Amino acid sequence: MTRVVLLGLDGFPHRAISADLTPRMWDLAQRGGRASSGGTTDLPSSTDPGFCSLLTGCRPSTHGVRTTSWRYAKLPAWAGVETPGVPTIFDGCRAAGIRTAAIVADDRGLLCTGSADTRWPPGGAIPPGTKLDAHGYPVNAVVRPQLLQALGDEANGFVFGHLNESDTVGHDHGPESEAAQACYRATDQVVGELLNALAGGWAETVIVIVSDHDMQSRNGSVPIDPMAHNTHGWWDAYIPDGGAALVHLLPGVDPQEAGAALERIDGIETCVASNDSLAIVGAEPGRIFAAPIYSAGGFHGAPVTARTVALVGGGDPAVPKIARAMTVKRPHLTDWAPTIASLLGIDLGPVDGESLLG
Ligand SMILES: [Zn+2]
Repeated sequence: MTRVVLLGLDGFPHRAISADLTPRMWDLAQRGGRASSGGTTDLPSSTDPGFCSLLTGCRPSTHGVRTTSWRYAKLPAWAGVETPGVPTIFDGCRAAGIRTAAIVADDRGLLCTGSADTRWPPGGAIPPGTKLDAHGYPVNAVVRPQLLQALGDEANGFVFGHLNESDTVGHDHGPESEAAQACYRATDQVVGELLNALAGGWAETVIVIVSDHDMQSRNGSVPIDPMAHNTHGWWDAYIPDGGAALVHLLPGVDPQEAGAALERIDGIETCVASNDSLAIVGAEPGRIFAAPIYSAGGFHGAPVTARTVALVGGGDPAVPKIARAMTVKRPHLTDWAPTIASLLGIDLGPVDGESLLG
């Protein structure tokens, strides 16, 4: 029976996967496969919408989690919900009698893991005394033994692991900084240990490694404030999420016209009209939306950071098929849940993504 291991490396840039910097992941991809231009995600290219898409197979317009900004302020209903309104891959496994484990550094946003049989942090609460990174998330060294234990339990047919340090270091020091490069290298060593632990059951294992978003550095320009360019009075509020923002359109406003007006604002690259009251705007590379607080180094959210790591490996016969599919189409984060569902023979119900196994 096929076993699936899904690793999410938070904020890990696709461009950091290389023979020199991340030899274990590079080798895994050479023997398995990788999307040469990386995978994709939606706007805002941000942690919570991304991981909810990854673990449900649905896009933010369907699962409802549109931004990570609810962590910093109570959000209005037009900005979406805090937890996905659709089943997760853990629910699908449970219904099929497949045991699951979710070992995550960031359980504040990855609320999709509630249906996993084994969860760490237990019950979503970080145990007192746990070593935390600069943003308050358990460090990779703490997650590592928990993941090794979950992988060592052969009863777990699906294991999801999440390592956060690459996101924290990218935010604080910038994705190209020496500190970030050192973190990418160290993260690869942890992944290498996990791969070593899977060697015994390699022939029946599929390993998928993704990130939720890329990370970029800011340029010197002034942050974009959509309220300062509200010439027609068509919107009354916006919620910034790094290089993207959710804009609330007033009743009766034509979303197409409002979108065109938003795209004319200096620094805005694109506008996606999501529904009659919500427009999602993405900034040009280097530009950020005006917010109460900014990271000292890198940030995400924009179209340019909507690029994910997308690697597959393992000895299961499905691996070359997934590898081939990734050479034809850049996988979207929503494609992984239906792919894993076909591997495990579970039913996810209707999803937005498409299985890479056809
Ligand atoms: Zn993230």
